[in-house]
This record gives sequence, structure tokens and C-alpha cells, in this order.
Amino acid sequence: MTAPVPTLPLSPAYAAGVAARVHEVRDRIAAATARGGHGQSVTLVAVTKTHGPDAVQAAFAAGVHDVGENRVQEAEQKRAGLLDVPVRWHLIGHVQRNKARSAISFDLVHGVDSQRLAEALHEAARADGRQCDVLVQVNVSGEASKYGLSATELPALVDRLHALSSLRVRGVMTMAPFDAPEGTLREVFSRARACADVVRAAGHDASVLSMGMSGDFEVAIEEGATHVRLGTILFGARAG
Ligand SMILES: *Cc1c(COP(=O)(O)O)cnc(C)c1O
Repeated sequence: MTAPVPTLPLSPAYAAGVAARVHEVRDRIAAATARGGHGQSVTLVAVTKTHGPDAVQAAFAAGVHDVGENRVQEAEQKRAGLLDVPVRWHLIGHVQRNKARSAISFDLVHGVDSQRLAEALHEAARADGRQCDVLVQVNVSGEASKYGLSATELPALVDRLHALSSLRVRGVMTMAPFDAPEGTLREVFSRARACADVVRAAGHDASVLSMGMSGDFEVAIEEGATHVRLGTILFGARAG
């Protein structure tokens, strides 16, 4: 184990830029929530993948308490230098079963898309004597390139998840097709909302609907999203 990297002083200009974008995005979130009429409260998850620890610091300084990363290893390195920044860490990307032991240290694992991954997370959490909060990832657009369960596969899986006592199923996550027309986005997001209803009807304490990225978060919120995962709009384009 290497020693935690000391946190660098945050550049005031960088922090001010991130804060301005966070404020603008919060206004747009509020407007979309009002238009949608679902009455939900919306959590802004700032996606800091490929950006340095200063992105997390700047987001936190701007009042953001939820941070998303899609790779376990990159997140662990970043977190080691940010032990004094009390954010909730979301694992938003695809999770490999051999990363389950690391994945359970996240506050919410968004990408549970199979029974085998769920079992691996449950075993890791049980061995650690803790509970792991998860979302079931659904693929309601049928795109072959996306991870996630179809609406048809969902009920059987969520039933079986009751047996995994170290997992708490909190809801559903989905990704819409990139650059799809608004009508398609709306269809995908409302089908994901129906999937969240299925999870609740199966008896899970599931109130989370994680959907919406920089290009489509307003439509997602209008269709009921409770968590939007925003990277580019807050931090600019990613290097890789
Ligand atoms: C990168 C990523 C995001 C953020 O995407 P932006 O378009 O940069 O806002 C959201 N969700 C997941 C799963 C991601 O991998």
C-alpha cells in the first residue's frame, strides 16, 4: 500500500468554473423536475472519471455530495487522496466479478446486471460483515452494445435477489442510446421507470432511478429520474 497522496490546493479559477456549471445544471434540474411532474427529488452525481482529484474537490466545494466513477482502480487511487472529502462514491460502470471485493466499498453500485455478479457482491459484503447497496442495470432499448437485463429477464432476477441478504436492492439504472431523438429517449426512460416499479412490486425498498447523462438528463428527469450522472457538462471533455 502506498501512502495516501496529499490533496493538492484547489485552483480558485478551476473551482469557480466548476461551481458556475454546477449552479447552471441545478437550475436546469429544477426546471426539468417541475416540467415532469413526478415530484421526485433529484441527486446530482458528478462523474469524475478521467479527471483528477481536483474535480472531486471542486464539485464538493460547489455543494455536490455524490461522485461517480466507472473504474474501480481509478476510483481507489482518487479516493486515497481524498479521505477528507466526505462524498458518497457511486460505482457507475460495468463491474467485473473479480472486482467485487473493491466494489462493495462504494456507497452505491449501479451496474448489477447478472445473478453471478450479484452473488459475488453478496459474498464479498457478507465476508466483510456489511451491506452493499445496488441498482439493477436494465437495457430497455435492446442495444446489443449495452450491459443490462431486458425487462423480460428482470422479474426473475429481482425475486432471486431476496436470497442475497447482504445486498440491498435500491432501484434501477439505465443508459439511453447515445444521440437518440427525444422521442426514443422518452420511451427508453419511461420503460426504465416501469422497471423500477417492478423492483418495488417485488418487495425491495427501491426508490432510485438512475438515468440521464450530460446529453439527455433533462428528458430523464422529466421521465422520473432520481439520480443523474453528469460528467462532461460539469468538467468538460474527457481526455480518454
Ligand atoms: C461516463 C458516464 C456518465 C457521464 O457521461 P457524460 O456524458 O460525460 O455526462 C454517466 N454514466 C455512465 C455509466 C458513464 O460511464
